[in-house]
Amino acid sequence: MGRRRHVSSVTGKMIAAMMNRPIYFDCNATTPCDPRVVEAMLPYMTESFANPTTRNHRPGRDAATVLERARAAVDRLLGGSAASEIVFTAGATEANNLALLGAADALKGRGRHLISQATEHASVLEPLAALERRGWEISLVGVDERGRVRLDELEAALRDDTVVVSLMLANNETGTIQPVVRAADLVHARGALLHCDAAQGVGKIPVHVGELDVDLLTLSAHKFYGPKGVGALWIRHRRPPISLLPVIHGGGQEKGLRSGTPNVPGAVGMARAMELVTDEEDAERTRVAALRDRLEASIINGVDGSSPNGDAANRLPNTSNLSFAGVEINALLASLPDLAVNTGSACASAHPEASPVLVAMGIPDELAGSSLRLSLGRFTTDEEVDRAAARIIEEVMRLRDMPTRMGRGSHR
Ligand code: PMP
Repeated sequence: MGRRRHVSSVTGKMIAAMMNRPIYFDCNATTPCDPRVVEAMLPYMTESFANPTTRNHRPGRDAATVLERARAAVDRLLGGSAASEIVFTAGATEANNLALLGAADALKGRGRHLISQATEHASVLEPLAALERRGWEISLVGVDERGRVRLDELEAALRDDTVVVSLMLANNETGTIQPVVRAADLVHARGALLHCDAAQGVGKIPVHVGELDVDLLTLSAHKFYGPKGVGALWIRHRRPPISLLPVIHGGGQEKGLRSGTPNVPGAVGMARAMELVTDEEDAERTRVAALRDRLEASIINGVDGSSPNGDAANRLPNTSNLSFAGVEINALLASLPDLAVNTGSACASAHPEASPVLVAMGIPDELAGSSLRLSLGRFTTDEEVDRAAARIIEEVMRLRDMPTRMGRGSHR
């Protein structure tokens, strides 16, 4: 009873805070925790808080049972075959590092070549750069104008000594969905492993490890209404099992692959968030896609010289990436304090230059540097979409009418 009262006061505060906030269209950066997820987590922070690695008392053993239940749920919801396929991590960055550094280390006797593609997230590209500095060979294949990996280039890049290929499921900036199943055929035909960063996929499109035919898959709870600081690497157990080497060394938790006291409330929250996503998936996908399409159509109709980026036919239902010819994007962001929107990926937004993802797609620097990413979510309303579209149109028009140092005057 006491617990329920505490949860409803947390929910009440969350809703009150949401009323005063800017319209939040940055769900690809992170999502709010769903109150139902918070409710599931709370008992494991306050009452059942024991360390699951401690087997010498009942609270510790109970915590281990809870952790294993969450592990089994996450594996089942991904379509896996055994709970032991899940290694809990502190998010997608850590899971990507474990997948790439851990597999490269484990397989170095077989080969020292890895492949990825140009529009991956920094948490894939940077571990690959680190491997390159340590003597591995890395090939990055290109993408087409929609942001889809060039499969002919991938096929040509594969070698007998290629050990891992890393291909994201969906891009964080454009929402473009990659042809993972077709890539899997090519990669497996050459005896390499396929790692898939599905951080942007889970919660937005169905993610099933069997259907994708991947060997390693990354996920992160805060991208699908779960808590921040928890994610997982799914490691295929069947045909044959894959062994990795750890990146984080210590007490040997998570079967030695990720030492450190396990985040039990985080794991419970991630499992609950995945359950909610799975239960509500089809209806939510249709709802969010309709809102995104309405937002995008209003802006494109309202602003000449605005162009969508990405693969219109095959992208995440919540994501719109629009370029506004002749508009300084930082000026646009500054003039929209009532909206939480982003340029390119949140992680790269400290750098004002054109988005490398859009540049890799062949979009001219000028347009790539004037792009806005709008990513909607579970709590987005019709009213927010209409208000945001009107505000974006208004500010783009106002900025275009202002003479600038770069001589970009009227663009209408
Ligand atoms: N991969 C992709 C595709 C992402 O969008 C992100 C988050 N921006 C990450 C990895 C990193 O996720 P996390 O914050 O959980 O480390």
